[in-house]
Amino acid sequence: MSKIFENTEIAFSLKSDSELERAYFLFKMISHEPLVRIGTAAANFALKAHLPVEGLIRATVFDHFCGGVNEDDCLPVIDKMFDKGVSSVLDYSVEGKEIESHFDAAMEKTLKIINFADEKKSMPIAVFKPTGFGRFHLFQKKGERKPLTAQEQVEWERIVNRFDKVCKLAKEKDVEILVDSEQSWMQDAADELCEDMMRKYNTDIPIVYNTFQLYRWDRLDYLKLLHERAKKEGFMIGAKIVRGAYMEKERERADAKDYDSPICATKEATDLNFNESLDYILRNIDTISVFIGTHNEQSCYLAMQMMADLNIEKSDNRVWFGQLYGMSDHISFNLAANGYNVAKYVPFGPVKDVMPYLIRRAEENTSVAGQTSRELMLLKNERQRRRL
Ligand SMILES: Cc1cc2nc3c(=O)[nH]c(=O)nc-3n(C[C@H](O)[C@H](O)[C@H](O)COP(=O)(O)OP(=O)(O)OC[C@H]3O[C@@H](n4cnc5c(N)ncnc54)[C@H](O)[C@@H]3O)c2cc1C
Repeated sequence: MSKIFENTEIAFSLKSDSELERAYFLFKMISHEPLVRIGTAAANFALKAHLPVEGLIRATVFDHFCGGVNEDDCLPVIDKMFDKGVSSVLDYSVEGKEIESHFDAAMEKTLKIINFADEKKSMPIAVFKPTGFGRFHLFQKKGERKPLTAQEQVEWERIVNRFDKVCKLAKEKDVEILVDSEQSWMQDAADELCEDMMRKYNTDIPIVYNTFQLYRWDRLDYLKLLHERAKKEGFMIGAKIVRGAYMEKERERADAKDYDSPICATKEATDLNFNESLDYILRNIDTISVFIGTHNEQSCYLAMQMMADLNIEKSDNRVWFGQLYGMSDHISFNLAANGYNVAKYVPFGPVKDVMPYLIRRAEENTSVAGQTSRELMLLKNERQRRRL
């Protein structure tokens, strides 16, 4: 497969010179772990103490990793990316609010985005997080098959209704809906709910996509079993595939509670699991559609090669590539320029409320070996090309 990701002119075509400089400065900062730790603590403290730092956060990390504070705010970013063939998945990134009114608000937000997406070709896909719609511990308890109290049962019904309302509207509006995956100890209940939604709404085309975290060694078997059930019962599978974002937490918990870690023993094992799952899905593309969420160049090249080998058109609507806004533009924009379907998650929300998301991005870029240095090298190459 010919190498396409080195083209920095295409990768950064939307960045002005000053935005390029800001990105370079930002990734340089992020590459220093102590700076990330200090910056994170200082930002959290300043926001809690109501110090006037929102402007500073907005002009730096926020604007790099987020589309705006609300949907309308994101429109210029969405339109600009779509001009280059890259679609957007608006991601309401307010996390960790565990009360009913917030769960309803998150659902309303998602419904609004689906309606919004229905009107805009640039937003063919929407997304939500299970714990945005209900308490983490209730997912956990349900998944562990512990009996729920009468009150919890009513609470669970509300979660089911939120899932159903969103998936139903997605079906009506023909907007694909991705359901993110989280920690393994709450995921069983979310998986069951997603399967119910697929059974109900994926009857002719896949609308509902569950997320398969392939750092989990049991996920390919789970996918195959789900596929058997889907074929038997006549529904399609929507599969978002990722490696997984909670490795440290998973390992710590497994250690502390003395059970086998659900995570592959090595990075190589995760990569193999990812590749085999991709292969399985693409060979069954008539019944499984895929959204490949990765910043890994090799995974993208592999998917491109497999598509070519299996005679799957680059623009086949059953295969999408996805990256996060503010990261790996060299993958997103070069894939789009070469005719593939690409969408970027565009997080949005009030500055204060998306801080946990921003901190995760900063920490992830500090801990994922090679990823920040790769961003820096590409930005440097583009600065040189522009003679900045
Ligand atoms: C569009 C999009 C949507 C996403 N949605 C979700 C989601 O719903 N849920 C979720 O959990 N994550 C999600 N992620 C994050 C994703 O799971 C990864 O954390 C992130 O993309 C890094 O993986 P990679 O494939 O890009 O790159 P790589 O750099 O190739 O892989 C890094 C990943 O490999 C795995 N890994 C690293 N070291 C080891 C090791 N020693 N042993 C075993 N495995 C190892 C970890 O999963 C790590 O995150 C999403 C990412 C994208 C781009």
